Amino acid sequence: MVDKVLVAGAGLAGCEAAWQLAQRGVPVTLLEMKPERMTPAHSSEHFAELVCSNSLRSDQMENAVGLLKEELRLMRSLILRCADEHRVEAGGALAVDREGFSRAVTAAVKSHPLIETKTGEVTEIPPEGPVIIATGPLTTQTLSEAIRAFFGGAEYLNFYDAAAPLVTFESIDMDRAYFASRYGRGGADYINCPMSEEEYEVFHRELSAAQEAKVHGFEDRKVFEGCMPVEVMARRGRDTLRYGPLKPVGLPDPKTGRDPYAVVQLRRDNAAGSIYNLVGFQTHLTFPEQRRVFSMIPALHSAQIVRYGVMHRNTYLDSPRLLNHRYEARREPRVRFAGQLTGVEGYVESTASGLAAGIEAARSILQMPPLDLPRETATGALARYISDETVTHFQPMNVNFGIMAPLEERVRGKKEKNLALSRRALEIIREKISGDETAPAF
Ligand SMILES: Cc1cc2nc3c(=O)[nH]c(=O)nc-3n(C[C@H](O)[C@H](O)[C@H](O)COP(=O)(O)OP(=O)(O)OC[C@H]3O[C@@H](n4cnc5c(N)ncnc54)[C@H](O)[C@@H]3O)c2cc1C
Repeated sequence: MVDKVLVAGAGLAGCEAAWQLAQRGVPVTLLEMKPERMTPAHSSEHFAELVCSNSLRSDQMENAVGLLKEELRLMRSLILRCADEHRVEAGGALAVDREGFSRAVTAAVKSHPLIETKTGEVTEIPPEGPVIIATGPLTTQTLSEAIRAFFGGAEYLNFYDAAAPLVTFESIDMDRAYFASRYGRGGADYINCPMSEEEYEVFHRELSAAQEAKVHGFEDRKVFEGCMPVEVMARRGRDTLRYGPLKPVGLPDPKTGRDPYAVVQLRRDNAAGSIYNLVGFQTHLTFPEQRRVFSMIPALHSAQIVRYGVMHRNTYLDSPRLLNHRYEARREPRVRFAGQLTGVEGYVESTASGLAAGIEAARSILQMPPLDLPRETATGALARYISDETVTHFQPMNVNFGIMAPLEERVRGKKEKNLALSRRALEIIREKISGDETAPAF
């Protein structure tokens, strides 16, 4: 007898995980609270509901999310199959007919002979047996409390996302920035982006007037009190930022030997040093406005933002301290997590984590060695990013080439480099699945 797996939440991650398990012969109970109870953002009775945009973003191979989708297709993702079948024209992106897509996923899951679906809220982590928790960014309060108790502390679960943008190191203009710590304390860990008075004037004016993102009904304005968005701080006065995150003292510019007028600090976000975050720049601006205004910081004129700043309700784990790269709880590997709850960000990323958690759970139950996708693949890189213990200020993140292992050879041009990374990743996935005896056919 093979163990039955309880999957909590029939969103993108939960449906994908359940499907991968069942396709490998492992029986599943999939427990979803809809339509009995709805989160503030869900409204349809169907599974795999797209709560906002109907776009799964780029489908181009020079884009990391395009690569991730192709990897998922190769690994026979149910979500990708249904998305492709319900595609609507959207240029280079994969957009779907949201209703048709959700109906198709629901029908496939409900008709699978090894998946039993039940309606009801999961309120605890079952004391025994394999389980995958995939209840998403709007996980109910009772279950959130149970998860917190399971990990033994408040600091392990975040209830909202107040995140600053992340940029790639290679896109920072280092001719206009310098490494230093304030007053030379510790190592020269920060990248400092100086501004002259004129540059600060323009930046301050544009930031104060920039457009904020629409507030969705589920968002709780109160959460902003303890963590002020950088644009709100800017509106408080011309110099507020210069006494806050843009404080210039103790950071002399090596080019002039003097403290600049204002300085934006970037802190290293991963051990590889490929990604940096803008310190104190949690923001509620729209994504185009973040691109426009933050590129006025001289060293960031061409910065590639791999993760935009956001402020909204988003329950997610401090995964680097809690999970391993198979999405297993380090303290009790029979309990796995998948989807946005693990700190991956986005529809496709949530799907990828569901797929990986499902495959690894099946292989463990079937007593097979783990698949362990490496950091050279987008799916593996995501899993390794969320479980990377060197990431100290963990924030949910979209897939991007910056978290993947760099190429060994030098390739000129960004597009060519990204295409080379994609080719390498797809080769590895093909090789891995050709050796995966459990890889299911549809
Ligand atoms: C408002 C909002 C808008 C977003 N917009 C986008 C976007 O446009 N593009 C994008 O790429 N990403 C977006 N995201 C981020 C993310 O990609 C989605 O939230 C994605 O759906 C996450 O997938 P998931 O499977 O982890 O969770 P979900 O898709 O949310 O699935 C979780 C499921 O678990 C159920 N559930 C919750 N608690 C319980 C419980 N205790 N017991 C039983 N069932 C439970 C829920 O009803 C839901 O069906 C958005 C997130 C939010 C909150």
